[in-house]
Amino acid sequence: MQYHKSVRLLNDLYCYIWSGMGNNCNTCVLTDVLKGDKPHVMIDPGHLTNEADEDCIGSLTEAMITDKVQMKDIGLIINTHSHPDHCQSVEEIVNLSGAAVTMSEEEDAFRTTVGERMYSMFGMKAPKFKPAFFLKEGDVKLGKDDFNLQVFLCPGHSPGSVCLYLPDSKVLITGDVVFYMSVGRTDFPGGSTSLLKHSIERISKLDVEFLVPGHNTEPNGVMRGRELIKRNFQAVRTFF
Ligand SMILES: [Zn+2]
Repeated sequence: MQYHKSVRLLNDLYCYIWSGMGNNCNTCVLTDVLKGDKPHVMIDPGHLTNEADEDCIGSLTEAMITDKVQMKDIGLIINTHSHPDHCQSVEEIVNLSGAAVTMSEEEDAFRTTVGERMYSMFGMKAPKFKPAFFLKEGDVKLGKDDFNLQVFLCPGHSPGSVCLYLPDSKVLITGDVVFYMSVGRTDFPGGSTSLLKHSIERISKLDVEFLVPGHNTEPNGVMRGRELIKRNFQAVRTFF
């Protein structure tokens, strides 16, 4: 079964919008941005299987095949944070592709301690992997043509959450920091409402044309247009 809806947001950016019954995150794939024979970058691969017993990784693989993007050609997995619904399938994809993995150092420290207990709390096995490098605040140059990606450390939903910004196309990938008319939960271990507020304040200053949240709180998944996105930031800053 395919539960992901594919949205080709840019020539080299596919967003796989989750539309199953149970919980899973949206996944993004930047295609052909790395040098070498594994040129794709995946952001937040999501669950293996979710609480509704939906085959999330199978669905993602199917959706990607339709777009002629192969899981085995993933060279790098970026995790906005380490919660099971964003990160559970990392080990499986690494086994398949040999992809390198990255997240912030703060998130990795959380993942390997308290985070692992969250997996067992949900009755799941935590994926085993070791980040090849850590994401830091600032620019990341990705192989080909110096594809530019900016990392914003945005703690609050989890201790080392990051948001990713593509300055050339003005795309912001927020993980679970901000959604349409909503924000990430702060009641999980490592959450902090005051840090989340500060993080949202920071990213709300960016010039954003497309906002890809980690979960959908509106039917189409991706928020489009500066005005809508600005209004959304105003609303969440007022109400949360
Ligand atoms: Zn989360």
